[in-house]
Amino acid sequence: MNLKNKPNINKLSISIFIIISTICVILVYFATQSARASNEEHVQSAFAMSTIVTQNVYGNKGEDAASRVEAELAYFEQLISLYDENSDISKINENAGNTAVEVSSLTLALLAQTKELSLKSGGAFAATIAPLTLLWGVNGDAPTVPTDTEIEALLPLVDDEKIIINETNSTVMLEMQGQAIDLGGIAKGYACNIARDVYNTHGVESALLSIGGNVYVHGTKPGGDLFRIGFKNPYVNAQTQAIASVEIKDAVFSVSGGYERYFEADGELYHHIINPTTGYPSNSDVLSVGIIHEDGTVADFYSTTLFVQGLDATINYFMAGGSGMATDLNNNLYVSKDLEHSFELIDNNFNVIFIG
Ligand code: AMP
Ligand code: MG
Repeated sequence: MNLKNKPNINKLSISIFIIISTICVILVYFATQSARASNEEHVQSAFAMSTIVTQNVYGNKGEDAASRVEAELAYFEQLISLYDENSDISKINENAGNTAVEVSSLTLALLAQTKELSLKSGGAFAATIAPLTLLWGVNGDAPTVPTDTEIEALLPLVDDEKIIINETNSTVMLEMQGQAIDLGGIAKGYACNIARDVYNTHGVESALLSIGGNVYVHGTKPGGDLFRIGFKNPYVNAQTQAIASVEIKDAVFSVSGGYERYFEADGELYHHIINPTTGYPSNSDVLSVGIIHEDGTVADFYSTTLFVQGLDATINYFMAGGSGMATDLNNNLYVSKDLEHSFELIDNNFNVIFIG
């Protein structure tokens, strides 16, 4: 036997050992890198729909997804803004009582869903509130307190039954001249649905989006813990930011309150949510209502509607299985029972009452 040709077992196993170890080190390095990448937080803020939109998107698709959301929200705003003269909504408003206007499929679908929801609100929610929101001008630069006569003249125009939607021709028409649509009560909730769809198509598993009083929670934190969301203090000069918090997953937390947008005249505060029956800012017995729902449009619709309808309607909504929180004029904080397990009180000035 030629000993020179005999493989050296020791050398061979050492070489194999070194190769395998190197591969393992490389694999561990890449695994760590990709774990790091999937935990990376991308924060992006923009101004859209008259408010600040902030996204916290986790993972290596974060930046692409956040930019895409921004672009889609800009497009959405162009379609539905009451203040952009080229929007679908402005065209419908200009042609009120006159002609049916062809609109994009997005506008058509959103108006159909809004009308269907609105007709369930017993007149508390009205997409045709625009003549009054424009008269008060709370969302503009020069808000004013109108006279009773000015308000009364516009009240008959507020009637969502008169939004005529033709799905076959993709047209919308307002029956009466002077009528106008303002989608401010549901648009930010819908914007959350746009974000949800973009995050899903980009494979994003963890994200938060905040737009006005609406927060969309997409999945969980990287690692699986649930995101905890605060319920804002409804008092304008409050000491605490949030009065309570709760854990949420794959849902929108939409809050309506007079503190969100208002102006002051002669020592009085006038806010932006109008009672369609009186034409004045709603003064029901709730200070704020926060609704949690997987469909952002529905969450946004109910927060506005229940804010106008008041405490009894809000309690009934929670009793019937609806999820959320509300504050009244006596520092009571009503919380739907489904939230009890993760609910945390932050501000002890509030007295907690679980409903359901
Ligand atoms: P939100 O903050 O979701 O409650 O929506 C308030 C916005 O909805 C206002 O700024 C108006 O643009 C619009 N709005 C005001 N009053 C009503 C109402 N009664 N029904 C529907 N939309 C309303
Ligand atoms: Mg709303």
